[in-house]
Amino acid sequence: MSLETEVLVIGAGAAGLMCAATAAARGRKVMVVDHAKQAGKKILISGGGRCNFTNLYVEPANYLCANPHFVKSALAQYTQWDFIDLVVRHNIAYHERDHGQLFCDDSAKEIVRMLLDECDKGQVQLRLRTDIESVSRLESGFAVATSIGRIQCQSLVVATGGLSMPKLGATPYGYKLAEQFGLKLKPTRAGLVPFTLQPQDKQHFEPLSGISLTANVAAQRGPAFTEQMLITHRGLSGPSVLQASNYREPGEGVSIDLLPAVDVGEALAQAREQNPKRQLSTWLSEHFPGRLAETLIAYHGWPNQPLGQLNKATLADIPEQLNRWQLKPGGDEGYRTAEVTLGGVDTDELSSKTMECKRVPGLYFVGEVMDVTGWLGGFNFQWAWASGYVAGQNA
Ligand SMILES: Cc1cc2nc3c(=O)[nH]c(=O)nc-3n(C[C@H](O)[C@H](O)[C@H](O)COP(=O)(O)OP(=O)(O)OC[C@H]3O[C@@H](n4cnc5c(N)ncnc54)[C@H](O)[C@@H]3O)c2cc1C
Repeated sequence: MSLETEVLVIGAGAAGLMCAATAAARGRKVMVVDHAKQAGKKILISGGGRCNFTNLYVEPANYLCANPHFVKSALAQYTQWDFIDLVVRHNIAYHERDHGQLFCDDSAKEIVRMLLDECDKGQVQLRLRTDIESVSRLESGFAVATSIGRIQCQSLVVATGGLSMPKLGATPYGYKLAEQFGLKLKPTRAGLVPFTLQPQDKQHFEPLSGISLTANVAAQRGPAFTEQMLITHRGLSGPSVLQASNYREPGEGVSIDLLPAVDVGEALAQAREQNPKRQLSTWLSEHFPGRLAETLIAYHGWPNQPLGQLNKATLADIPEQLNRWQLKPGGDEGYRTAEVTLGGVDTDELSSKTMECKRVPGLYFVGEVMDVTGWLGGFNFQWAWASGYVAGQNA
C-alpha cells in the first residue's frame, strides 16, 4: 500500500497531536502514526491521572537547554493562556495548585479527548499500532516505510518524545532519525527523577520511608527548590528532589536544607539558653517527626545529651548538617521512573521560530525529543504544546 499526505507526524503524544491539529486547522492534509495502541499515553498517566497541563507562570528560565534563548520564540507564539483558552472552549474544568500548576478537576482523559477532537475537526488521519521501518529523503519531501505501507509526505514531524518510562512506549527512534540526517545530539540522561542513596545512608533512612517534609534542595549548578521532600525505600523523592535532579550531573552531590524556615544555629543557641536541660532528641522532635529526629542523631553520631552539655564540635555540626547537609546520592532511579529526558536533538540544528531543521528543509522536531526540558509543574507539557503549535503553523 502506498499512502500520501502533506504532513506526516511520527508520535501521537502531546507535541505530535498538537502539531497535527494545528497543521490540519490550516487546511493541510495530516497523518499521525504511532506504534502504541493508544494516543497520548503519557498524558493519561500524568499528574496522577489529572494532568498538570500547564503553569500560570511560564518563563524561559523554567527550561534547561544548551541555548537558553531557544525556547523564547515558541513560548511567546503559543502561551499558557492559549492552551487555557483551548481547555475552556472544551469545557474542561480545572484548578490551580501550588506554584501556579493547573490540573484537570476530573481526568487527564479530557485533555487527550480534546486533542483528538481538534485533530478530528481537521480530518487528521490517526494510525496507531504502526511501526516505522525507514525514512528516506526525496527530491521534495520524504518517504517513510511503515508496517502499514509506504507513506510519502512533504513535511515530516518527529514527535517521538524522550526515553523515560519505556513501558509506555518510549523509544530512542527520534534520536536515531536525527543521527541519520547528520544532526548533532546532546547527551541524554534521566530528569525529574528520584535519587537513590548509598548503602551506608540507605540503611539509616530506608526505615523512614513515607516521611515527608519541606526541604530546600540544590544541585551544585542549579537553583535551590523549596518544596516537599519524600523519604522512599530506595532514597529521596518529592518535588524538591525531582526539580534538583534536572541540574545534577552524575556523581555530583546535592545540598539539602532540612529546615529552610529555621536558622538552626540561632534556634539551638536560644533553646540552650531557655532550657539547657532539654535533651537533643526532644528539641529535634519539635522540628521533625520523632523517628526522623532519632535517625538524625544516630546518622550524624551526635550525643543525645541535654542541650546545655553539648560540646563545641556538636554545636557547630548540628546547624551544618540540618541547614546545609551535603549528600552524595548513590545515583538516580533512571528512566524507569523519570518523568523526562534531558538532552536530545541539539537545538542549534533547529529554527527556534518553526522547529524546522536548518539543514534538512521539511523535517521538524517537536516536544521532548529535543534538548529542552522543563521544571516540574506543567512546563514540559507547555513546551510540547508550544513547539507542536509552531511546527504545525509551518509544516
Ligand atoms: C509519569 C509521568 C508524569 C508526567 N506528568 C507531567 C505533568 O503532569 N505535567 C507536565 O508538564 N509533564 C509531565 N510529564 C512529562 C510529559 O509527559 C512529557 O514531557 C510530554 O509527554 C512530552 O511530549 P512529547 O509529545 O514530546 O512525547 P510523548 O508524549 O512521550 O509522545 C511520544 C509519542 O511517540 C510515540 N513513539 C515513540 N517512539 C516511537 C516509534 N519508534 N514509532 C512510533 N511512535 C513512537 C510514543 O508511543 C508516544 O505516543 C510526565 C511524564 C511522566 C513519565
